[in-house]
Formats: sequence, C-alpha cells, structure tokens
Amino acid sequence: MPAQTNLFRCLTDNYGVLLHDPASGATASIDAPEAGPVEQVLAATGWRLTDILVTHHHGDHTAGIPELKHKHKCRVVAPRKEAQRIPLVDETVGEGDTVRVGSLAGRVIDTPGHTLGHISYFLPAEKLAFVGDTLFSIGCGRVIEGNPEMMWTSLVKLRGLPDDTRFYCGHEYTAANIRFAKTIEPNNKALAARAQQVEKLVAAHQPTIPATIGAEKAENPFLRADVAEVAQAVGLAGSPAWKVFAEIRERKNKY
Ligand SMILES: [Zn+2]
Repeated sequence: MPAQTNLFRCLTDNYGVLLHDPASGATASIDAPEAGPVEQVLAATGWRLTDILVTHHHGDHTAGIPELKHKHKCRVVAPRKEAQRIPLVDETVGEGDTVRVGSLAGRVIDTPGHTLGHISYFLPAEKLAFVGDTLFSIGCGRVIEGNPEMMWTSLVKLRGLPDDTRFYCGHEYTAANIRFAKTIEPNNKALAARAQQVEKLVAAHQPTIPATIGAEKAENPFLRADVAEVAQAVGLAGSPAWKVFAEIRERKNKY
C-alpha cells in the first residue's frame, strides 16, 4: 500500500507533514514545528503518531517535540551530528542509515550546509523525499553553519534522486523564490511556466509543494550552478560550480 502524506501550515511560513503507512498504521511527523497543528491533523485523519523524523536542530523544526513525545510516546529520530541540540532523541542516524516507519523504509542522506548536521530522508519505493531546509522549491536554505561548497555538494546529492521524486521542504517560499530566480534566468521557459502554476496555487491558497526533483533541475537556479548559461549570467563563466552557487546564494541573501 502506498504511503499517504498530509501537508499543513505551522507557525508563519513553516510546513508540517505527516507520513502515514496504511499497512501498519504507523505515522511519522517530519520535524515538529509546533504540536497543535500536528494534533489537529492526527484528530482529523485518525492516524496515530509513532515517530518524529528530525531534519535539523532549528527551533522552528523541533519546538513541538516535547509536547508530542509526552503525549504519544513516539520515537524521535534525529541527525547524529546535532542530536545534542534536539530534545528527547531516541535514535541518531546519518548517511546511508535506514529509518523505518512501519513498513516504509527511508534512507538517510547527509545534507549539511544550512546546519552542519542537517539530514534528509529519501523513501525510494515511494519516490518521496523530506529535505528540511536544504532544498526549497526554486530555492535553497541559507548557508548558516556550513560553507557554500558544502551546501552545493548537498544539493547535488538531492539533485541526483530520481526525477519523479516528490520532495517536501520546510517552508513555503516558492513565489518569492521564483521572483528571484527570474533575475538569474529571465529566459528560462520552464521557470516561466512554473511561475504561472505557482501564481494560480497561491491565488487559490493552495501549497506549492511537493515539487519534483526533475522540475527543479530545469527551474531552480541553485541546482543549475553548473549550467554554462547560469554561470555566465552571474559573470562567472568557467568558474567551479560551487563558486557560481555561492554567488547566486549571496545575491539571494541581498535580494
Ligand atoms: Zn532551519
């Protein structure tokens, strides 16, 4: 039975998402920005919370853990490299580890840069990825603890997932990201088409995620730092991709 997901807003612009395994009844919350919205979805779906899979230590991804753990006695899985900064961790994981949610299996991918221990979860059989604040739709997370080369390497790993992988990220930033992306690639037709789709979704108060890896490869400038036209657009033709990435990230920081 395929996995089910339920996406919902938390805090101001965070997303919460629950991953449900109909075969076993297990349900994981990917991060826990706050407990209230998670409880509402559990009540509406009748799902039972068995696990919390944490991507990184930031408070807007972990603040709901104590309340949810206290109530549901769920297992908290967190990145090994920053587990000491995350409350009530039961199990620590890193690159290549497998995390099971009922009968569902996710592979852990180290994706440092936004934070040093940031991880993503990829479920190959479901073609689903949970990427926290590493990759956003048409954007990427700020490089807060790591450096641009590290972040670029992490993004390349996520870019290497199958094109039809649907990924869930931690925030709804797509419309703003598209405005910026157009300053880098004003003639990117796939990006222009995506902009129209996103405009309609936003007008209808619908989420713009999940997006697919395949679409992002064509439209997200942060995944395209090794495309010659993109390097040229930021005045860095012939430079290593991570330097092009660093320049795009810097421009976005100031945008
Ligand atoms: Zn974060």
